[in-house]
Amino acid sequence: MTHNNYLCCQAISSKQPKIQFSVSKRGGQLLWLDGLKYFRNNENRTNLFWRCHWYYRRIRCPVLICMNKYDSSDFRQIHKHRHVKLSKKQQAMEVDTLELPNELPTPLPVINSKCDAALPVDTEQEMFTI
Ligand SMILES: [Zn+2]
Repeated sequence: MTHNNYLCCQAISSKQPKIQFSVSKRGGQLLWLDGLKYFRNNENRTNLFWRCHWYYRRIRCPVLICMNKYDSSDFRQIHKHRHVKLSKKQQAMEVDTLELPNELPTPLPVINSKCDAALPVDTEQEMFTI
């Protein structure tokens, strides 16, 4: 039985990322991934790109998330965060300050298809093209 438990824990801790989507006050789409916030960036035919919000600070974190448009669990991180403190507690707190339900992430298609056209283009976004 101990063996089973071990496997179970392994599965849980094997970096199953927590993904949430929300909308900023300015109407931009936000992605929360493991307690870090990302802004909607560019997209291409198959992928959405999310930019770490630390990019807009002095630190200029280079991280991008490349996410499959049709499967939000299919993504990869490009580059490494420059600011990550490995304090789980802090990350959790950051998420808690958001008014997000602590449930499973809502699937994103609804947000996406509706808002794309009307989405105001952030000036910051124009600085970055893929
Ligand atoms: Zn970052």
